[in-house]
Amino acid sequence: MSPAIGATFTDDSGRAEGGDLVTEKEVIVIFVLGGPGSGKGTQCGHIVQHFGFTHLSAGDLLRAEINSGSENGTMIQNMIKEGKIVPSEVTVKLLQRAMKESGNHKFLIDGFPRNEENRAAFEEVTKIVPEFILFFDCAEEEMERRLLSRNEGRVDDNIETIRKRFKVFLESSMKVVEYYESKGKVHKVDAGKPISDVFDAVKQIFSPFGEVN
Ligand code: UDP
Ligand code: MG
Repeated sequence: MSPAIGATFTDDSGRAEGGDLVTEKEVIVIFVLGGPGSGKGTQCGHIVQHFGFTHLSAGDLLRAEINSGSENGTMIQNMIKEGKIVPSEVTVKLLQRAMKESGNHKFLIDGFPRNEENRAAFEEVTKIVPEFILFFDCAEEEMERRLLSRNEGRVDDNIETIRKRFKVFLESSMKVVEYYESKGKVHKVDAGKPISDVFDAVKQIFSPFGEVN
């Protein structure tokens, strides 16, 4: 079954006892949200190591799309430079493709959905409802300090664009967090602490999945 029509992936590696039945594994999606510089990517890397999820960063997928010479490349590049949110259609397609290509059924979707439109488009197209939302709560001064001290050569890690990204986060992305809060689906973590302290809190939240490493 395609994830475009149902929230399951077919996996023929699963075998029922004594037979070779094809099993369908339920797709598990966790949205990892938080302001720019709140540590989403870093913590996702640790979750992957411990809990066997596939990490899909929407921002990384968009940057890869620019680098692939796609016809949307220039548009995406301009929007990222301005800290604006790329049209849902583009991002949802990239996420769907990456999910299929991964061969996994457990996903951390990092930095998406960024607004209500993103959220509705993802649900509409994939029919996937997230298991929960991992929300990294961090003060703006700390996020700004981290963004300005990392040197990843990103076109949007300059003070002018950072201010725009903070504004978009507060005005649009927090609405998504509030929506899921109203459904009791948000796990909030204090992300202003050192990496290992934050991961201790994250680990507690993921413990029901069981550690793989
Ligand atoms: N972006 C977007 N849609 C997404 C994810 C990212 O439009 O679903 C764009 C947006 O312009 C954002 C930029 O990509 O400011 C960088 O996003 P990323 O998540 O990589 O960075 P973060 O803001 O989390 O540091
Ligand atoms: Mg990131």
